[in-house]
Order: sequence, then structure tokens, then C-alpha cells
Amino acid sequence: MAELRADYLDPGEVAAATAMPSRAGVPLILTLRRPAEGGRFPGSERDRIALLERLASGGFAWVDLEEDLDAPNLVARFVNAGTRIIRSMHDFTGTPDHLVERLRRLPRGASEVPKLAVTPKGVSDLSRILAAARASPGTEKIILGMGPYGVTTRILATRLGSLLSYAAVPGAAVAPGQVDVRTLAEEYRFGAIGKGTAVYGVIGNPILHSRSPFIHNRGIAALGLDAVYLPFQVDDVDAFWEVADELGVTGLSVTVPHKQAVIRRLSARDALVDAVGACNTVCRRVGGEPWTGTNTDVEGFLAPLLDVTGGKLRVGLKAVVIGAGGASRAVVYGLARQGARVLVLNRSRERAQELAQVFGVQAAGLDPAGLKLAAGADLIVQTTPAGMEGQPPEDPAPGLAFTGSEIVYELVYEPPVTPFAARAAAAGCRIIGGWAMLVAQAMRQFELFTGRPYPEELAKELLKVD
Ligand code: NAP
Repeated sequence: MAELRADYLDPGEVAAATAMPSRAGVPLILTLRRPAEGGRFPGSERDRIALLERLASGGFAWVDLEEDLDAPNLVARFVNAGTRIIRSMHDFTGTPDHLVERLRRLPRGASEVPKLAVTPKGVSDLSRILAAARASPGTEKIILGMGPYGVTTRILATRLGSLLSYAAVPGAAVAPGQVDVRTLAEEYRFGAIGKGTAVYGVIGNPILHSRSPFIHNRGIAALGLDAVYLPFQVDDVDAFWEVADELGVTGLSVTVPHKQAVIRRLSARDALVDAVGACNTVCRRVGGEPWTGTNTDVEGFLAPLLDVTGGKLRVGLKAVVIGAGGASRAVVYGLARQGARVLVLNRSRERAQELAQVFGVQAAGLDPAGLKLAAGADLIVQTTPAGMEGQPPEDPAPGLAFTGSEIVYELVYEPPVTPFAARAAAAGCRIIGGWAMLVAQAMRQFELFTGRPYPEELAKELLKVD
């Protein structure tokens, strides 16, 4: 079905609105929203009610009326015309207290369905929305969380017992957290989500830019699995664990800034988590504990590199790693394990030294003295966020001269070519992009979550896109 936002129409279009239900080809929800609820209707409340009365005979499947609209004649008119009423309560600034009560108090009945649309400001608000949905099983209702923390309620609407979900028109500007209808239908396969659908996802903050849902959901669809993979915006890992229980989540990818914080939630972890000091993957058996953690970044980083080096690294290979953050830890650990001689160069030298001490490698600042030490590198790995989308198009090491014989591995995958990688390619270096690592680490996660290998052909197709 579609929602006709009549408050967005100009006066000439409004006059023709009664003809729209018969022309649309799908059931229509009529909404004429006042500014207090984010609408654009310019006239008085009397004008609005008068216009709704005129439209009542139009044959709309539904009309959305605010909870406090006291207009029994108007309601009767719609009901007599066979139109059902959505009784809505909106909060664009937060999630009010006593949600269960608020939902219960909304008018409901054979012709009326309550709708709660609120704005979670964090995971604990999302948790309260899910609890409100659970507290009213079997009741026809619409429950919706707006903004980035509410995405879960849009994708899993049917799991929450919501009658419908709202999605944007593809290509139209969308507010944070809105999913367009094509992505909802094709990537998240909204229509196939049911009670038994396995739920996986990625936790991070921010997270809506993540490409992980695309990679995992494509794999799920290719194998015809009853599963879905969501982006979970998470500000508080502990509060999220309640959400994970509520939704029966059985597999999670973990990204910035939660790779360390998540470790305290694990019942078991493998040696890689301890060795790298970070966990990017957690899974559990259906039905609850224990959560087990691992790290697929190490293997995900090494796989594309070993693909171009014939399955192993040359003995004594000299590797320079730029950056000493979270990603650098997995990279340095993986390279050291493969027997490479590793030099870490970082903007703040102390941080490079700390990391180098942990892994028993060499360290220096990202300065002329450090760059001198980098001479003769066989492999250069760029692990800083410099040049990534949302950051200035910056080269983190403009003083680093390429000879053209190095392999240059750029971890940033958005954009596909950073200024650093472009300069290396122009010098003749062989380039490995961050997309290859992202896909490789996701493939390992996919197998841990689903028990099925990620389809090889699909992976090849994804890598061609880059
Ligand atoms: P992080 O922990 O925040 O690391 C930041 C590091 O980058 C620090 O060493 C910092 O130096 C350095 N840095 C930041 N801006 C810089 C600049 N403009 N010039 C020079 N150095 C700079 O981040 P992370 O988690 O390691 O992630 C880093 C990047 O890797 C991100 O772009 C992320 O998307 C990407 N990544 C990709 C994959 C993949 O699968 N392809 C996986 C993981 C991460 P200071 O210590 O001096 O501040």
C-alpha cells in the first residue's frame, strides 16, 4: 500500500485527491498532517477537518488521525465509507515514559488501529519500544522508532507485531534511519521475515553507512536462508544485549567503537581475541548463552594479500604499517604471524611504540625519520581513516615515496580509491583495496553465523563491483 501525504499537495492537487484511491492501483492511507506532528498543512485545524471530511468519501483504505483529534463525526464518516482509522501518537524528540500505557490508551477497535511513532535516542529507548510491542501481543498496532536507533523497528516490523512499516520512495532524500522501499523489499526481504527468521547484524556507532548488511543479506538470499542481517546503531553495548535477547539475535559483527567493549559480554573467546585485543564477531547457539567471540579481521586481512603472494609471504618480507589504531592491531598481528618484518609508523609515535611492544615489532613516528626507516618496503598497509568518506580527501603519508614495486594495501574501502592508493597506483604499485578485506572477513563471519559457506560466485561478483 502507499501513503498519500495530502499535506504535501498544492491546492489544485488536493482537489483531485479523491480520485487517487481508484487510480493508485494499491490501497491508500490518507494522511493530512498538521505541523505539530511534522506535517505541512498550512491552514487552521477547522480547515483541516473540513478537508478531511471532503476526502472521506474518496475510498481510502485507511486514514491516519492523531490520537487527540476529537472529531467523532469525521471518524464516523470515514468508518461508514469503509475506511479504517490509524490513531497515531508521535514524538519526534524522544521516547516518552510509560510506553505500554500510552499504547494501551490509544483508541482501538474493529475500525481503529493504534500507532506509536517515537524517536529512540539510544539502545535503551529501543529496548523499551520492543518491550511495549511485546506487552500487547495479538493486538493490531503499528509501532515505529524513528531515527538511526529505530531502524530495527522498520525492518523487523512484522516480528514486533506491527501491521505495517513505513519506507521511503527510492531515490528520494531520506531522513536518518529511513529505509527506502526497494532496499527494504530486496535487500532485507521484508516480506519473508517471520517468527522463525534468524536475526544477525552489525553493531557500531555510527553504523548506517556500513556495507556489511549488503554483503551478508546478498549471501542469505543466494542460499535461500530464512535469516536477515541488520545494522544496529549501538551507543551502549550492555543495553544492546537486552535487545539481542529480545530479538533472539544469534550472530553479530562488531565494528568501531565496540570491538573492545564487547569482550566483557562474552562467555567464551578464542585465542585470536586475546592476541589482537579486539573482537569483531560474536555468535551463540539458538536459544541463548553462551556468546562466543572471535576475530575475523586477521584472516580477512590476510586472505586477499595471500591471494596475490601465492599463498604465503616471502621470508623476511618488509612490511610498513601506517596507523596504530584498532585495525592496525589485526594487521600487525597477522603480518607478524606470517613471519614478516613489521615497522609501524604512526602520527603519534607513543601509540606506535605501545602497539609495537605488544606484538614485538619495530615502531616510529609518521615523520621524516620514520619514513627513512620505511625505505625498501615490500608491502605498505594503510590502516588510518585518512581519505575515507566523511573525512578530508587526505593522504596520511605524502612524504612516503613509492618505488612502484611495493604491494600497497589500503584498508579504507569507501571511496574505492583514496588519494594514497591513487598515488601508489600512479607509481606502478600493485594495489589491494579495503573492500577485498571487508568481503573476506564477512565471508568467515557468514559461515560462523549460518553454518554455510558464503557462495564463492557471489563473492567474486561482489569483488568485481569494486
Ligand atoms: P582508529 O582506531 O580510529 O585508528 C586511528 C589511527 O589512524 C590512529 O593511529 C591515528 O593516529 C591514525 N590517523 C587518523 N587520522 C589520521 C590522519 N589524518 N593522518 C594520519 N594518521 C591518522 O580506526 P580503525 O578502527 O583502526 O580504522 C581505521 C580505518 O580502517 C577506517 O577507515 C576503517 O574503515 C578501516 N577498516 C577497514 C576494514 C576493512 O575490512 N576494509 C576493517 C577495519 C577497519 P593517532 O594515533 O596519531 O591519532
